[in-house]
Amino acid sequence: MKTEERFLEEGRREQEGMARFLADLISTPSLSRRENAVVQRIGEQMTALGYDEVTVDGFGSVVGRIGHGPVHIVFDSHIDTVDVGDPASWRTEPFKATIEGGVLFGRGASDNKAATAAMVHGAALIKRLGADASRFTLHVVGTVQEEDCDGLALEYLLTNTILGAEVVVLGEATNLDVYRGHRGRAEFAIHTRGRAAHASAPERGVNAIYRMQPIIEQIEGLNDRLATDSFLGKGTVVLSKIEAQTPSINAVPDGCTIYLDRRLTIGESVESARAELEALPAVQEGAATLELLRYDGTAYTGLTLSIDKYFPTWVVPEDHPAVRAGVEAAERALGRTPNVGRWVFSTNGVSSAGRLGIPTIGFGPANEVYAHTADDQCPLDHLPVAAAWYAAFPAAYLAAAGHGSS
Ligand SMILES: [Zn+2]
Repeated sequence: MKTEERFLEEGRREQEGMARFLADLISTPSLSRRENAVVQRIGEQMTALGYDEVTVDGFGSVVGRIGHGPVHIVFDSHIDTVDVGDPASWRTEPFKATIEGGVLFGRGASDNKAATAAMVHGAALIKRLGADASRFTLHVVGTVQEEDCDGLALEYLLTNTILGAEVVVLGEATNLDVYRGHRGRAEFAIHTRGRAAHASAPERGVNAIYRMQPIIEQIEGLNDRLATDSFLGKGTVVLSKIEAQTPSINAVPDGCTIYLDRRLTIGESVESARAELEALPAVQEGAATLELLRYDGTAYTGLTLSIDKYFPTWVVPEDHPAVRAGVEAAERALGRTPNVGRWVFSTNGVSSAGRLGIPTIGFGPANEVYAHTADDQCPLDHLPVAAAWYAAFPAAYLAAAGHGSS
């Protein structure tokens, strides 16, 4: 039997161990910026599975290394989760793994802890089964703060901790298919200024909310005119929040701010999105100002990173070696040809592929429709399948990228 076929067999033998590890990850809550306990648990598992080195970087992400060859491959799953929401909406306990009918339920099961369990175990299969690991270095990464600011921790890692990564695999849920991109996004604020006056004499002031009103109407119209791409879908803009500044309820407000979530399809960028908003007649007539929002993230390590809230669109071509390797890894290790698709939501790929230009694909257990829901779940039989794919990917990539056949 070829090594690639033994990965699945061995993965199935380990399914129970992986499920126990996943249950531990779920019962170790890890909201963004509070990931230290789960980092500890993942590091212990990597050490127990025989990783060559386990480290934690300055921003708090955990990194396990296997091999020390020249081609650097990064497997990334984020290890933070969103909060529970209304506890009454949960049928099971959020921070306790519940298994029913072969499906494991709990906060983070689909997004993204099942991938962490499968990646950590899958990469270890390479060593255990004695596959050739001399030509690559595999970095299995658990990144922090993805839910608060996608890409921030992975970008820090790829520019400070792991240099020269040639390809990145994201474990975000793909339902065991191969994904190769998603829409980008940007967050803007638009401000109008007015002049405060007593509300008993509005003619003495300038109402900043009234100045905003035609801008709001034109933004709603703009949404209908935005570009569409046949693979990624349509660019969109949503007015998601509005604020006013006023001396009192009995005064004419002198400031108004609206917040926009702008999703960017192929061909759109922060510059094009900014130019479209600035060109709206009401923005010019109202002397409104446009601001790209920023994110400040202080990690549990104490390090603070700041970044513009612009997350670039990215797509890797279907015939790229990384995508071909993803399909081949499934064919060799799982005996099936996966679909090649894209995510609806955003991932850490905004930094690896979007900002740094490193070819990135996705393969993960679970279905993305359960992410952030009170029904967060992953089928247990996804774990060995994903683990076998992760074990098979490095050799498939070396072959597809022309680094010598495997
Ligand atoms: Zn996620």
